[in-house]
Amino acid sequence: MVTQIETASERLFEQAGALMPGGVSSPVRAFGRVGGKPFFVDRAEGALLHDVDGRAYFDYVMSWGALMLGHAHPAITRALTEAAGRGTSYGAPCGAEVELAQLVVDLMPSIEMVRFVNSGTEATMAAVRLARAATGRDIVLKFDGCYHGHADSFLVRAGSGVATLGLPDSPGVPRALAELTISVPYNDPDAVRNVFDTRGDEIACIIVEPVIGNSGFIAPEPGFLELLREITTRHGALLIFDEVMTGFRVAMRGAQDRLGITPDLTTLGKVIGGGLPVGAYGGRRDLMSMVAPAGAVYQAGTLSGNPLAMAAGIAQLLFLRETAPQEDLERRALRLLHGLETTAHELDVPFQGSAAGAMFGFHFTNKPVRDFATASTADAELFARFHRAALARGVFLPPSPFEAAFLSTAHTEELMDDTLERLRDALREAVR
Ligand code: PMP
Repeated sequence: MVTQIETASERLFEQAGALMPGGVSSPVRAFGRVGGKPFFVDRAEGALLHDVDGRAYFDYVMSWGALMLGHAHPAITRALTEAAGRGTSYGAPCGAEVELAQLVVDLMPSIEMVRFVNSGTEATMAAVRLARAATGRDIVLKFDGCYHGHADSFLVRAGSGVATLGLPDSPGVPRALAELTISVPYNDPDAVRNVFDTRGDEIACIIVEPVIGNSGFIAPEPGFLELLREITTRHGALLIFDEVMTGFRVAMRGAQDRLGITPDLTTLGKVIGGGLPVGAYGGRRDLMSMVAPAGAVYQAGTLSGNPLAMAAGIAQLLFLRETAPQEDLERRALRLLHGLETTAHELDVPFQGSAAGAMFGFHFTNKPVRDFATASTADAELFARFHRAALARGVFLPPSPFEAAFLSTAHTEELMDDTLERLRDALREAVR
């Protein structure tokens, strides 16, 4: 089939396809799951993305959760401009690292010490290495449909792009390593107990998204995270909360504060970088003191603690600390979901939606969504048609049913009311 190239985005995607695998730098961006072709961004401000063809979109991806203040927020661009004038990377310590570390330690209840890295993937990879070193054990327990970045140990029944592409596991991960990762259903206490009953003394850690954003949005059921805390403590394993997505987003002090659970280690990313590449891991002082050069667990980075990334992160966190917008944003998300649910019911479309702070999601299914299996019962074809219809109406939703959606302070009530009308219209078209 010969496809017509008509727009600047299509032209760029065609060129990119010859130069970069799938034409993108990260798989879900290629829109494979929803059909159609991705738009290429020219610029962004507030809640709006503008593509190279002059079209504007209300953005509900927000750089996959990194941006809490919208695009090009003056507080962040000011901080970046000022920092850039003083050099872009030092390869030596700088005060901004200490300032961001202090903010993180002050805000995140369980973090006493923190190490900065360059992505969420690096953070989870390093946290698991530390857990293995601290316990002298090798097995990692995770949950189906959770995504912890693309390190080998986590590409076992992973969510996000792995689920989007329909890959159970990735080729290229050594079997010997994959065998050290056990994955069980989320919100399933018996499955967790069974693993600990049989292999409890081999388990280094549980790593979990305290609220899942990588199978679409899934909330933990009462008692589930409490069980993880209790069982890891009892068996001498560590509990790692992967708050790369939830940190500073589902609540100012993270999911751990909102849900009242104290993990041993926490991984962070996205929001702490204000849209620049940053990750971090932190936790108990005795554990973090094992990291080099304080201890022997090796982990390093040429660009780690980068002054631009630190400046953007500091600016975003200070603004958030001042304004604490998470609860308001949750109300806005719930209002949008409620409106959409009403239309879904009128159209006889099954619908489940929920939100926590500035993060939300929905699935086109009648089944209450509590794990990856129930998330997978959702109507993927309907989602794809809905996504395309929404995009045609200027609303950019995450291009996969296995991703959560994100809000920022730039998503005003008026903008979200406008969004709702567009999404209602899109749903009507999608079911026709
Ligand atoms: N953990 C979670 C919970 C995530 O959502 C992500 C990315 N979406 C990662 C880890 C990996 O982060 P990064 O893409 O920055 O490597």
